[in-house]
Amino acid sequence: MKALVIEDGKIHRQMIGLVLEALDVEVHLAQTAEEGLAALANETFDLISLDLHLPDMDGLEFCRRLRADEATHLLPIVLLTSEDADATLKMAYGAGVTEVMRKTSIEELQQSFSFLVNRLRRVYSGRVLYVEDSPTTAQLTISILKDMGLVVDHYLSGEDALESFWRCDYDVVITDVVLEGEMSGLNVVRGIRSAGSDRREIPVLAVSGNEDMSRRVEILRSGANDYIEKPIVEDEFKARLGNLIINKQLFDQVRSQQDELRTLAVTDQLTGLYNRTYLAETAQKYVSSAIRHHESLSLLMLDLDEFKDINDTQGHAAGDKVLAAIGDMLKSRCRDEDVVARFGGEEFIVLLPRCDLENAIYKAEHLCRFIRELQPAGLTISASLGVSSIHEGGRHIDFEKLLKEADTALYAAKRNGRDRVEVFSEDRLEASA
Ligand code: GH3
Ligand code: MG
Ligand code: MG
Ligand code: MG
Repeated sequence: MKALVIEDGKIHRQMIGLVLEALDVEVHLAQTAEEGLAALANETFDLISLDLHLPDMDGLEFCRRLRADEATHLLPIVLLTSEDADATLKMAYGAGVTEVMRKTSIEELQQSFSFLVNRLRRVYSGRVLYVEDSPTTAQLTISILKDMGLVVDHYLSGEDALESFWRCDYDVVITDVVLEGEMSGLNVVRGIRSAGSDRREIPVLAVSGNEDMSRRVEILRSGANDYIEKPIVEDEFKARLGNLIINKQLFDQVRSQQDELRTLAVTDQLTGLYNRTYLAETAQKYVSSAIRHHESLSLLMLDLDEFKDINDTQGHAAGDKVLAAIGDMLKSRCRDEDVVARFGGEEFIVLLPRCDLENAIYKAEHLCRFIRELQPAGLTISASLGVSSIHEGGRHIDFEKLLKEADTALYAAKRNGRDRVEVFSEDRLEASA
């Protein structure tokens, strides 16, 4: 990136030069408007830093001249002044200045230039779905998009573009409004906005020839986020598209942070299993769904035996290691559709959808044996398990009751000597009541 600094004061000229060089910008220094114009005639620049008061020309006049010239009419011009007056600011923007910076504070200059240079340098990443039936417009636009660092999938018709939209993940859609074939650009936008997934939120930039006001409003109402006229002005196109992409990426970032927070909120930190909060939020849905669809569902409640002794003799850290190892084992021995949760200190719940009592007992016996053989942290551990179940087309029961039944069975397992599986039966409920 190359900048032209036009400034008659030696100290300021050097200071601005150093600020820009520190941002890896190549700097050309000029002392007068005349020197500046000569440099502009010989070279192309990406940015101009211009003093308000020059010996041979007023800075604003200089700016007006650049804006009137085809070669420099979109070039970013930063006006440097030590004046704060509102009138100066107004006149500066009126003359076409991009930004006004005060040269009185070096920290402020560093910050403002750094912000501006980073914005000008920005390389975008992402994939664009581009619909355009005119070969000349498409060729020009595709080269701008590639220059921006974007990957482009180009289609001539709305039908083909939408088909690709469903298959691939895009960051932005650019569509011509008038297309050959059955589908217009508006139909493309409407098709995207009526999608039943997150995909419908993708930003859309509509491109079209001169449209009257009502047509432009219609394009935006159909769901396009922004609109740009042909022939495309490269800088305007880049600025509009860049904003859409940045917004989309910020939005995606927020969403993935929300997902992470959600995962954190329902995960037990020690074992990585679901926690009690998750169980409280979802378990009833599993029970209701099983009853509604006449499916079986089983629940295992697992409690480690004499766990307090482990903590007392081996220390709390060893106890934690045991719990983490039990968590890993449960995860690896259960299916993806099973819900494995840490219910409390050394208590675990396994919810088994579409699993009848017979299979649940079989599963519980297996887990009981795996724990006995696991030897986490070199220690022999055992567990007691209680099983409760809803059979296919079975009784109406809520999660709380199913849990209470498993707990009753677990209590029986403890009473009968630990390291075993017991199944809930009505007699036991009465016995424990
Ligand atoms: P029982 O066979 O009757 O279940 O005996 P128990 O000792 O396992 O049961 P009890 O409920 O008396 O003690 C449970 C112990 O689990 C007490 C508590 O300190 C320990 N514990 C609970 N949470 C954690 C934890 O996160 N880490 C560690 N290391 N220990 C825990
Ligand atoms: Mg206990
Ligand atoms: Mg215990
Ligand atoms: Mg316990």
